[in-house]
Amino acid sequence: MSFFRKTEETLQNSAIDELRQTVAAAALPAHVRQVAEKELATLSKIAPATAEYSIGLTYVEYILSLPWNKKTDDNLDISKAENILNERHYGLSSIKERILEHLAVKILIRERKPRILIVDDEEIARKNLEHILKKENYVVVTAANGIEALEKMETSEFDVIMTDLRMEKVNGMDLLEKAKIRHPDSRVIMITAYATVDSAVEAMKKGAFHYITKPFKLDDVRSVVREAVDKMLATISAKGSVLCFTGPPGTGKTSLGRAIAEATGRTFSRISLGGMKDEAEIRGHRRTYAGAMPGRIIEEIRRSKVMNPVMMLDEVDKIGLDFKGDSASALLEVLDPEQNRAFMDHYLDIPFDLSNVMFIVTANIPENIQEPLRDRMEVIEFAGYTEDEKMKIAQGFLVPRQTREQGLSDYKPAFTEETLLKIIQEHTREAGIRELERQIANVCRKIAAEFVHSREKASHFVVTPQAIEKFLGPRKYYFEITGEESKIGVTTGLVRTEVGGDIIFVEAAKMKGGKELILTGSLGNVMRESAQAALSYIRSNVSLFHIPYDFFDNHDLHVHVPAGAIPKDGPSAGATIAIALISLLSERRTKMDVAISGELTLSGTILPVGGIREKILAARRAGVKTVILPLKNRIDVDNLGDDVVRGLEIIFIGRLEDAIDRVLLSD
Ligand code: ADP
Repeated sequence: MSFFRKTEETLQNSAIDELRQTVAAAALPAHVRQVAEKELATLSKIAPATAEYSIGLTYVEYILSLPWNKKTDDNLDISKAENILNERHYGLSSIKERILEHLAVKILIRERKPRILIVDDEEIARKNLEHILKKENYVVVTAANGIEALEKMETSEFDVIMTDLRMEKVNGMDLLEKAKIRHPDSRVIMITAYATVDSAVEAMKKGAFHYITKPFKLDDVRSVVREAVDKMLATISAKGSVLCFTGPPGTGKTSLGRAIAEATGRTFSRISLGGMKDEAEIRGHRRTYAGAMPGRIIEEIRRSKVMNPVMMLDEVDKIGLDFKGDSASALLEVLDPEQNRAFMDHYLDIPFDLSNVMFIVTANIPENIQEPLRDRMEVIEFAGYTEDEKMKIAQGFLVPRQTREQGLSDYKPAFTEETLLKIIQEHTREAGIRELERQIANVCRKIAAEFVHSREKASHFVVTPQAIEKFLGPRKYYFEITGEESKIGVTTGLVRTEVGGDIIFVEAAKMKGGKELILTGSLGNVMRESAQAALSYIRSNVSLFHIPYDFFDNHDLHVHVPAGAIPKDGPSAGATIAIALISLLSERRTKMDVAISGELTLSGTILPVGGIREKILAARRAGVKTVILPLKNRIDVDNLGDDVVRGLEIIFIGRLEDAIDRVLLSD
């Protein structure tokens, strides 16, 4: 028994000793080392068989596994960054431009030497401070009294002002007040003798950043100034410092994120926020829970082995509804430069500096991002691609990549334009190009299989449209509208979904009954309300639409939006629903190749809607000839390229009545 205990103790000691040595040798910041040492001291008093013991050991090992001081060096060469973005992606010029601007600002802020003003009437103190701070690579300006300091503050801006509290005429307190008015972002540090500490505390109440007491310790001076400078930089870069890429899948958000990482010389990592249900997934569990784990953010940092990766947080618009805790505030703590310097993960329980991480957030629909988060980010919209753009991307990127990846580098089959167009139109139906790439990969694989099978490798294999039929089978998609007969009670509409724009057919039916409105077809709440509003508008204007007064007393109405179980929501179907109902009630057939999108108010006004580019692209994919849009969306259409609107008639309306004769036939 006693032998047994001894072995156990020895084992315990050796495990702890080993960790102690690793802690001693590791490059840990002082406060982290303290926590690790304290934990090991506690562990040495606990029996190794207990749960606490193994939880403690794992904890110390986890601390040691984090890259506390490791960073990659940033590439600050903007033209190299530009080349990389261009080489990897076709088009997207305005997006690339905004990304480069964003990087340029970051580079400038980082490269700029912080400016510090030292005000002290004691020459030795002034010279000492100047000497210390110049060594820290700051631009240092000195003033021998308050009046001189005021003059210098008039002509130039300082990030940090260090001022003696007691001076003749204009003292430190006066300078603080002036600085707060003229440059509210600058940080003021008071220099004080022990006797005047009370006044320094008073100064902090009035907005001073900190105070140091004379005679000062060099380390204190350095760390207080560094902290002030960091805070100042965080304030400057806080606004719009996080990029948010929004748009349908397959439009290049992720691959542009990767290109940014490459362009800046950083590692790339990615976390999906979609479906996260619990704050603990972001912030971790407290160690008191059995099986507690760190949150995904810290875990991803550990995996990326550096403090400054480019970290992409995907699907920020899919977090929220059934989330336990406040997802927006947890994410703000991660993303906000003012807060993320000391991010608290519950498991780690030591403030962790995330301020060097370059976060990029992605979402499918910008409107679905919670407001406080959206305000903090620079939203960049990735819209869907036109057929021309898809063609160029396929030729320039997808075909070369897939030929390489499917082992065909030496044979390089040629895809003709006609062939690619056939794949785009008949085998894909998407805003982005994911499916397109998948289908090209399919074709390449089939060619590879044939080559290997027949042992006959043609070096100039041309992929014809006929070959596509053989490889991919019969066409999967048709222009939905082409050939559709005009109908009563069915109207074509345009909506935006997760995957881009889409056309919908709103169907309306009437039956004997009593005033009921039945709504079906995976409609969201907003769309249901739009249907109610459309009906109320029609009921309050029966004479305008030639509907008998008592019609509604003895009829039920049913509005249905087919096309699978794809959830549909948003206000933009209001006008479409109203036209379907008017067609039904006035028994006029609708032109199916006219698609309408607009929010309808109770008074019949048409309000602007979002996702215009996506909707127009969807209309073209479906073979729509005419698109009716709200008057106030004219500016959005004007901003689209010619290739997006080419061949489409676009009509703008301010009131619902203006749409009626455009959509309904008069016979
Ligand atoms: P998202 O993140 O928006 O869903 P991805 O970045 O995964 O889309 O893009 C899907 C594929 O399409 C990737 O292979 C990407 O490289 C390619 N791609 C997207 N846009 C472009 C473009 N403009 N030029 C070249 N390739 C592109």
